Amino acid sequence: MSLSIMRRIKFCAGHRLYKHGGKCEFFHGHNYVADFHVSGDEVDDVGRVIDFAELKRLFKGWIDEHWDHAFILNEDDDNGINALKQVVPCKMYVLPTNPTAESMATYLLEKVCPKLLKGTGVTCRKVAIWETEDSFAEASLDSAGNLQSIAELSEPMVS
Ligand SMILES: [Zn+2]
Repeated sequence: MSLSIMRRIKFCAGHRLYKHGGKCEFFHGHNYVADFHVSGDEVDDVGRVIDFAELKRLFKGWIDEHWDHAFILNEDDDNGINALKQVVPCKMYVLPTNPTAESMATYLLEKVCPKLLKGTGVTCRKVAIWETEDSFAEASLDSAGNLQSIAELSEPMVS
């Protein structure tokens, strides 16, 4: 049996889509929502997959430190990175890809969650990033633990 729970973390961040060619190439920001879907095979003595407070501590802790009130940029975006370095103080997080909702969800699922959940006995199976109330992207793992899909709801991502 597998049991799944979800913890939602809200944060604000700026970004731009490098070489987008449209308005998403301007510096702008979103009130993001990140949904972390966590699964485990058994419950503890209290009857929980894992304490929601522990998930909040782990996920919100990482988001607050790295992404909340930061600018998230593509590592190829030298112009944007150099511009932000002029700002004091500067909070910037550089991704290996454009900071779309799709790539942010994938990054959290593949790079961040395994580190945060190490030793907890639970696994993050799916991360959804809501960029607006109407648009989200999600990255999920199949039963073998491979990246399965990136799905989009609503209109094409307006980033
Ligand atoms: Zn955007």
